[in-house]
Formats: sequence, C-alpha cells, structure tokens
Amino acid sequence: MIQTDILIIGAGPCGLFTVFEAGLLKLRCHLVDSLPQAGGQLTEIYPKKPIYDIPGFPSILAGDLVDNLMEQIAPFKPGFTLGERAEKIERLEDDSFKLTTSKGTEINAPVIAIAGGLGCFEPRKPPISNIVDFEDKGVEYIIKDPELYRDKRVVIAGGGDSALDWTIFLADVAKEISLVHRRKSFRGALDSVEKVMELAHAGRVNLLTDAQVTGLQGNGKLTDVVIKQKEQGELIQSTDHFVPLFGLSPKLGPIGEWGLAIDRSAIEVDTVDYSTNVEGIYAIGDINTYEGKLKLILCGFHEATIMVQSAFKRIYPDKKLSFKYTTVNGVEAF
Ligand SMILES: Cc1cc2nc3c(=O)[nH]c(=O)nc-3n(C[C@H](O)[C@H](O)[C@H](O)COP(=O)(O)OP(=O)(O)OC[C@H]3O[C@@H](n4cnc5c(N)ncnc54)[C@H](O)[C@@H]3O)c2cc1C
Repeated sequence: MIQTDILIIGAGPCGLFTVFEAGLLKLRCHLVDSLPQAGGQLTEIYPKKPIYDIPGFPSILAGDLVDNLMEQIAPFKPGFTLGERAEKIERLEDDSFKLTTSKGTEINAPVIAIAGGLGCFEPRKPPISNIVDFEDKGVEYIIKDPELYRDKRVVIAGGGDSALDWTIFLADVAKEISLVHRRKSFRGALDSVEKVMELAHAGRVNLLTDAQVTGLQGNGKLTDVVIKQKEQGELIQSTDHFVPLFGLSPKLGPIGEWGLAIDRSAIEVDTVDYSTNVEGIYAIGDINTYEGKLKLILCGFHEATIMVQSAFKRIYPDKKLSFKYTTVNGVEAF
C-alpha cells in the first residue's frame, strides 16, 4: 500500500499547488487523477488558451501554467497515480484513511485533500446501442497511448480539436485512418482543419463529413463500423479501432458517496481551513462551496495554502509550526 502524508484527489492546478505548500512544511503528497495526465481542466479543456489573472503573469497559456506547476513541485517528489479514479475510502483503526482506486491501487494517508474540480471527466458516448460491448475491445474514448494504433486501421469520430489533432498525429502512425464528422464544417482550430484537409487531399486521411457511425460489428472484438452518410447512404468499413472523441463531461462520481455535506454538486467547507464535515478530509478548488466562493485558480491556490497548515496540525498535533517566508528559508527539497 502506498503511504503518504496528504493524499490529493485531483491533479488539477489546485491539487498540484497543494504539493508545493505541503512540501514547505515537509509533508509528502500523493496525487490520484482519473485522467491520464496532470493539469485538470487546463490540460483537458483549454491548454492553448491564455489566462490573464494569475498573479505575476500578465498572460500565460494554461498548458504552460501546468508545466510551471510541475516544475515548481518537482523538488518535493510527489507520487502520481494517473488514469485511476478515486473510488472508495475507509477510515482505519489509527484514524487514517485507506483509498482504493478504480484499478485497485491502495493509498494510506492521515489526511485527504479533495481537489476534484468539477468531478471526474467522463467521455460523452455516441448513441450506439452495443457500444459498451466493444469498450477496450476496439473502442476507446481517450487516446492514452498512440502506440496502440501503430499499423492498425482506425476510425476517429468528432469535429473538435481532439478529433482533428489525433487524426493528424495518427496519420503517421496508423496503417489507415478515417475521420467521420456529422457536419461539413469543423469546430477545431483553423490550422488543424487545414492540415486535415491537406492530408485528405494527399490520400493519407479518409475524410467522411455529413456522416455518422451508427453501428458496430464484431465477434468479441471490433471488426467493422457502420457509417451512415447523408448523400451516399450506408457503408460498412473494416477497422481495428473506433475512437469517438466527443469531449468529456464532468460528474461528481464516487466522491458524492463519502458522507460529505454536498450542496449542488459541491462540497461544503469551513473557510477557516477548508475542512469538510468529515474530520481529516479537506476540499479545495472548484469542488468546494462556501459563501462568496469564486471558481478561480488563484482562489484555489489560497485555499491550498491555508488548508495545509491545518493538515500539519492534524498529522503532528504535538509539533510547533512556525511560519517562514520562502525568501528566508528557500525551498528545501526532500
Ligand atoms: C474554458 C475555461 C477557461 C477558464 N479560464 C480561467 C481563467 O482565465 N482564470 C481562472 O482562474 N480560471 C479559469 N477557469 C477555471 C479554472 O480552470 C478552474 O478554476 C480550475 O481548473 C480549478 O482547478 P481544480 O484543481 O480545482 O480542478 P480541475 O482543474 O477541475 O481538476 C480536477 C481534477 O480532479 C480529477 N478528479 C475528480 N474527481 C476524481 C476522482 N474521483 N478520482 C480521480 N480524479 C478525480 C479530475 O479528473 C481533474 O483532473 C477556466 C475554465 C474553463 C473551462
């Protein structure tokens, strides 16, 4: 079982910054996130958008802010369990918690900090009746490892950045790549649309617009997709993979079943230290609620800073905590 001081659920900006503030107090952290990479909404929804209200940065791309946070916390060597959802918590005899993830990983900590943002991002699935039968048997909703598609036939569906970017990337990896989109125009960045059009003209991408994947066929494993086109009608295309990239929608998920006081999908906290109604569990960032709450990154950073002071007192009730500036003490790595 993994042991740590603060178990952070959610590796978005607030979860990441918690590692820094905890590290200054010599507390170790382990982060769990259901997404395959750190950064939360910044990485998943808007990595290329500039943010203008991070103090000290007149403008910074969301993806760059995540990179900077990762660099800032590196000296404190946080542990990461990515691509796994925090599923179940139990209180142990010594009053600490045991968390079990969706893949069975167990983590033990005296303090849990929930920085779960809008909750778990769950893929939006196309309305194909037997799609669940082919999940992980040829159907994937998130591309975790592009190598899975090397020299394979792949059908991607979607019209946003994710569908366009992966089509461009996989054109060099897959044996055959098709992009199916239900409209003629795309929602993604103009240069990505142009690149896909170029690849289609060069015969390297099979582009089907005004079309939808309406059925899946196979025998235990996906072998064909049924594509309905507005003008040409139905066609059956052989494929090894079908990857619908229709975006992710957030859901509170298992956190809603942990006995926490919830108000409209957010966790109620005491603003003295951002503690919840369950002793030892804190909630920071977008996932918490209190009077005057603003869902902003800088507010989450503040909450993380206050919260770790209280966490320290819970972990070391007999130790004195003296407050020191980083300019005086520096950042002492673990
Ligand atoms: C388009 C857009 C633009 C924005 N612009 C700005 C801006 O300019 N300035 C600003 O301050 N804010 C902005 N925001 C808001 C900002 O992104 C959020 O305030 C911030 O992401 C909150 O950070 P967080 O760490 O609390 O949560 P998130 O970034 O949501 O991260 C939470 C993480 O927790 C994970 N998670 C949740 N539940 C579980 C579970 N059970 N198990 C495992 N993992 C779990 C999720 O997968 C996610 O990665 C913007 C938001 C959007 C969508």
